[in-house]
Amino acid sequence: MNEFNVVSENKWSRCKICRLVITASNLWRHMRTQHSRLEPKRCEQCNKQFKNKYSLREHVRITHELKQQRDDIGRLLPNEESAIEALAPCT
Ligand SMILES: [Zn+2]
Ligand SMILES: [Zn+2]
Repeated sequence: MNEFNVVSENKWSRCKICRLVITASNLWRHMRTQHSRLEPKRCEQCNKQFKNKYSLREHVRITHELKQQRDDIGRLLPNEESAIEALAPCT
């Protein structure tokens, strides 16, 4: 009458990646949500790899979006000095 033996036979699986014990029917979902390789973790613009999507998002924001803003300003104004001047609050 070992209950664990009974359920461990077919219904339960263990995730190979995080060793979580989960029902076989939920394992596929767990793999998709927790360990999905479809989740974009590589920066499309510089091909840098990140351990999770939050790091990637932060990287894109800091590295590319802010740079893009600077480039936009640079395009509007002939040089960076005048761009900074234009952005500086009127004192
Ligand atoms: Zn897992
Ligand atoms: Zn990047």
